This record gives sequence, structure tokens and C-alpha cells, in this order.
Amino acid sequence: MPPLTNVLASPVSYLKGVGPHRAELLQKELGIFTFFDLLQHFPFRYMDRTQFIKINQINSDQNYVQVIGKLAEKNVEGDKNNRRLKAYLIDGTGELELVWFRGLRWVDKSLEEGKTYIVYGKPGYFRGDYSISHPEMTLMDDSMKEEMKHGGMQPVYNTTEKLKSVFLNSNGMAKLMRTLLAQMHDRDFAENLPEKILKRYHFPLRFEAYRHIHFPPNQKAGEDARNRFRFEELFYSQLRILQLRTKRKQVPHGFVFAQLGHFFNTFYKEKLPFELTSAQKRVIKEIRSDLLAGKQMNRLLQGDVGSGKTVVALITMLMAMDNGYQACMMAPTEILAQQHFRNLRSLAKDLGLHIGLLTASVKGKDRKTLLHLLETGELHLVIGTHALLEDKVVFRNLGLVVIDEQHRFGVEQRAKLWTKNHEPPHILVMTATPIPRTLAMTVYGDLDTSVIDELPPGRKPITTVHRNDSARLRVFGFMKEEIKKGRQVYVVYPLIEESEKQDYKFLMDGYESISRAFPLPEYAVSIVHGKMKPEDREFEMQRFIRGETNIMVATTVIEVGVDIPNASVMVIESAERFGLSQLHQLRGRVGRGAEQSYCILMSGEKLSNEALARLRIMTQTNDGFRIAEEDLQLRGPGDIEGTQQSGLMPFRIAELARDQHWLEAARREAEEILGGDPGLQRPEHFYLQKFLESTGGEKRYSRIS
Ligand code: ADP
Ligand code: MG
Repeated sequence: MPPLTNVLASPVSYLKGVGPHRAELLQKELGIFTFFDLLQHFPFRYMDRTQFIKINQINSDQNYVQVIGKLAEKNVEGDKNNRRLKAYLIDGTGELELVWFRGLRWVDKSLEEGKTYIVYGKPGYFRGDYSISHPEMTLMDDSMKEEMKHGGMQPVYNTTEKLKSVFLNSNGMAKLMRTLLAQMHDRDFAENLPEKILKRYHFPLRFEAYRHIHFPPNQKAGEDARNRFRFEELFYSQLRILQLRTKRKQVPHGFVFAQLGHFFNTFYKEKLPFELTSAQKRVIKEIRSDLLAGKQMNRLLQGDVGSGKTVVALITMLMAMDNGYQACMMAPTEILAQQHFRNLRSLAKDLGLHIGLLTASVKGKDRKTLLHLLETGELHLVIGTHALLEDKVVFRNLGLVVIDEQHRFGVEQRAKLWTKNHEPPHILVMTATPIPRTLAMTVYGDLDTSVIDELPPGRKPITTVHRNDSARLRVFGFMKEEIKKGRQVYVVYPLIEESEKQDYKFLMDGYESISRAFPLPEYAVSIVHGKMKPEDREFEMQRFIRGETNIMVATTVIEVGVDIPNASVMVIESAERFGLSQLHQLRGRVGRGAEQSYCILMSGEKLSNEALARLRIMTQTNDGFRIAEEDLQLRGPGDIEGTQQSGLMPFRIAELARDQHWLEAARREAEEILGGDPGLQRPEHFYLQKFLESTGGEKRYSRIS
């Protein structure tokens, strides 16, 4: 058999038209080292020369338009806080306004008045005129004219400023692709999908698919090629994840927590303040059977906000302690760690359990003592933040790690905890952000999953309404009524780094106006935000927790985990600026007691369709899983919090929101193949295994072992 990737593995500098300089830039800018890498650089759309329209034909039914015209004029307008670049395109039938709000300097530099451009974008209608904001601009230069001679659908590629400076703009890239594809042959592309699959889904062969994805002879051929690659990508990710999972289960390492002893029994029989829900009981059973199996547990515990994950974590930790092991629990923020510390200490009161708290603000002698007690094993349990990851934190015998709100931690940070004992401790990852099924299958596909799909009894669904700023006085009136009943209120402001100063002012202004509307001594208002000293923050939190203040004005620092059952109203300011899952998290701070609770989404009057859709979903449902699915649909999975920066979305072409059916197909096929041949050792799977190895992206997945 010929080697799999001989030609495809050639350095890209071997290609005609790519000298050492261009090769270096391709590497640095796009990570393109080889012929294969270059071919994998798929166009993100196509330009169809037959689809140009005239400016006077633009109407509001069109989602995207492509116009060709001359750039007549461009100007930077507005003041310091609100600057924009406006340009006008003319084509003899009319004038089209183009607007940019971001990256003005660069856009301004790259556009030249008097030149002809192909403009692509979504037209918006404003005061009787159409305009396009942030359009894609392609200069009609010689390379473009050359490309257009090829007719049909022109690929449009992502490139960078530096690449453009060596004429590797989209057209330059297209030219390279043409050169490369022209010198390749069918035999260079060993087929990496089983024939059965190709037939079943009518996929084109591999080489054909590469030709068609770059230069589709027609729309259908292009789409078929894309589908093949979507499937291929998902299929290999599933093969990898499923194999990983099998491997992990074959490794016989893992502490056995055979005993149920003093800690568990006393807590369960005497301390547990409520009857567990049947979902909690089921999950505890699942965990217990992991802990007895003699293999490292890697379990993801999903449960909507307020579903009662904390007590499940505590019970699991008690099992560790009954067997002579220590446990730790890691939370994403200091506030949350403190809260867990308080909660767990009060839940486990009089059990004789020694619990410590380790965060960045535990310093000096306290820290030293704590570290010492951990090392000698006198501390059974430590709650903390990232501080737990430090090398100085040494356990005597760590048996279990609980990670709360997992999406905030990167894979590597977690992996560090695995090394804190001679054998990896058991891992329980808890997330309150419900993960859409598709994401769970891919990103967390190698973890076992438990779901708490039931809220504790007696919870009333939270009533959610959307109000404009003009209704503020009435909202204040409503807050007063609730406070009169003895309830407490959160008012949350957005604080987003980019515009931090402005947001901060907004928060302080809000605090002032609330303080005026709710004056002392009748009312007391707390404020908590990230710029406060941890001690001050903690002091304010405590006052609110003890019921000494009626209103808590805060930024999203309170987003996760804070649990104050007496708080029954959540007012979210500028709600249009929050993502869906964040809104759901915030709303989850109320509705924890038996009282009817309310969430009031405040927004300006002018809202984008997407923002409106988000707020509408919030008023329609309390179901975290539905919200997560809608979120995925609205934003695409790359934007789901935390997944991007932790590198959990490794897909080049597949999009989970759109390609669910391909994912399911890929999962089915991968399961079937591995079911009959777990090691991919059969001759007919030779190329599968080869390809899996050659693209071996294991470390890019949420690998936990
Ligand atoms: P989350 O899953 O969001 O972390 P928590 O563990 O903070 O939820 O639990 C939310 C609230 O519900 C807490 O006040 C907790 O004491 C309470 N709770 C948990 N389980 C039950 C139960 N089975 N019955 C009644 N209340 C419960
Ligand atoms: Mg929680």
C-alpha cells in the first residue's frame, strides 16, 4: 500500500508560487505548513458572478446582497465615544451607504476612494435608505479580474493583512489552490471514509470533494463536498472520543471507596435538612458505583440552576473521607468559593469535618497553616479557587476533586489537579449551564454524564417579564411591595471589559439612583462589584445574606452559585447586552425559596432582532435545556461561554447548531465501526486508523485521564 500522505505532507514551499517568504507567512498567519494544510483552508463562502445586483434593486427581503460599484467617498464621523466610518458606493443606479463601527483605522486605510469594489453584506433599512454595516469589501484589481475569468463560483478565503501584503488575498489564495489541485491526482488521496458510508450518504470521493469545495462547478456539488467534510470531521472526532473513553475504562487505576462510614451515615441520617429528590438519589447511585469500580471516575454532573448539585457534591466528598481520603472543591470565583465554604460548613456542622478555604486572599500565616494542615491530612476538605492548582498545594491523600461551574476552567488547569496524588483522584465536574446535547456529545463526549433533571419540590416557576427603561418607576414600586413582604432584591448591571469605564459609571449611577429611591433608614442598599477589595465585598455579601440590606446592586460577579433563598426579585439592567445562558444563570439566583419569584429584564427601546429573540425566550421558558438549545441556535457553539478560549471547539467546517443530523450520523457510524473493531485493526479500517493517527488531535479534546 502506498504511504498515506506522501504528497499531501509536502511543505507548502514546494508549491509553485510559494517562496520561502510566503511559506513562512502562511505558517505563521494561518498555520499552513503542508499541501494538506493548504487544501484544508476551505473558502468560507463563494462569490457568484451571476448574483450581482444593482443598488436600486436592493430591498428588505434580501438577506445578503452583492453589489459592484465605485467607492465615491468615505469619512470618519461622530465624536470620541461614538465614532464610525461611512462610505458611499455608486453604480449608476443609486448610492449605497456603507458603515463601520469597529476597526475604523484599519478599514479607512484599506479602502481607496475612486476604486471599484465588490461589496457583500446584509442590507439594513434606516430612514428611507439602505445601508450595509461591516460589509465584506473586495477590490476589483487585476488578480480579481483574472479569477473571474474562471467563471462560476469564486471561492472567498480568510486571509490576513500580512498575507495580503504578499498578494495572498482571497484571490491569491484561490490561485494557489488551483495550482495545487491541478498537480494532484486521485491516488494522492487515500479514501478515509468507508465505502459503505460514502454510498449511504452519497458523498463524493475525497479528491473530488477537495476540488469541489474550493471550486464548485455548481451549487449542489459544492454543498455535497461540504457535507462530506462536515461528516468527516465529526466522524473522526467521534472515533477519537469514543476510543478515548474505551481506553480510559480499560485502565485499572482508581481508588475504591468501599466504606460508608461515620461521615456519610451521620450526615445522611441526622443532618440532611431535606428529603433528596429522586433525581439526586439516582445521581448519587451513579457516582457511588463509579467509586466502587476501581477505575478513575470522570463524571460530568449537569443540573439546572437550583437543582441541588451542592449536596450531591458534599455526599460524594463524605464518601471519600469515610475511606481516609481528602477531597477538594474548586470554584471559578472567590465569592463562589466563599459561599461553598459557608454552605458546606453549615451543612456539615457537628460532623467533625475539618474544612479549609484557600483563595488568593488567604495569605501569610493563615495560608501557611492551611497548607501545612493539608499536607499532614488534618484537613479533610478544602474549598478554593485557582489557588488550589499551585504547586505549593500538596495533599496527604487526595481522593476526589469536585469542580463547580466547569465551563470556566480550561482543560489544562483541570489536568493539573489530576497529578496531585500518585494515582489520579476521582473527578466530579458540575455544571449549571445546561449543555446542549450536541455539545455534550462532542466536547464532553469522553466523560460519563449524570443529569439532575428535577427541581426540589415546592419551587414555583419564576415569572419573567421584559420592561423598557420608561417603566422604571413602576419597577421601583414593585420592588417596594416585595421588600414590604420581607423579600430581598438583586439589581444586576452588565460589566464588560471592553467598555469597562462606561459600564462602571453606569453601575455607580444606578446605585445612586436606587439609593435615592430607597432611602435610609427605611431601606438599605448593598453594592458588590469586581473592583472592590475582597474584604469589602465579603462584608457587603454578608450583610445581604443576613438580611440587613434589602437590595443588592451588583455586577455579574454574582452570576454563579450565590444562594439566598429570601431573595425573590432579580432585576437585570441592559438585559439586551447579556447572552442567554448568562441571563438564565442570573435568573437562577432567585426562586430558591418557596415564595413566588420574579425576574425583570430591563432594556432600551431599540433592540436588534436577536436581542429581542433572546429576551422573548427568557419570558417564555424557565427550562435551562431549552434555553441552551436556543442559545446554540442563535449564537453558534463557538460562542457558548468558555468553549472558545479553552479550545473545545476544534471544528473547521462542522457547525454543531446546523449540523446536528450529521453529528448524530457520525456518532452512529463511529459506534458501529468501533463496536465491531474497537482498535481499528481490521484491514478495511487501515486508513481510518492511519488517518486518525496522522491528524491525531487528541490533546485538543477534553481529555481527562
Ligand atoms: P445548584 O444546583 O444550582 O448548585 P444548590 O445546590 O445551590 O443548587 O441548591 C439550591 C437550593 O436548593 C439550596 O438552597 C439547597 O439547600 C436546596 N436544595 C437542594 N436539594 C434540595 C432538596 N432535595 N429539597 C429541598 N431543597 C433542596
Ligand atoms: Mg451551585
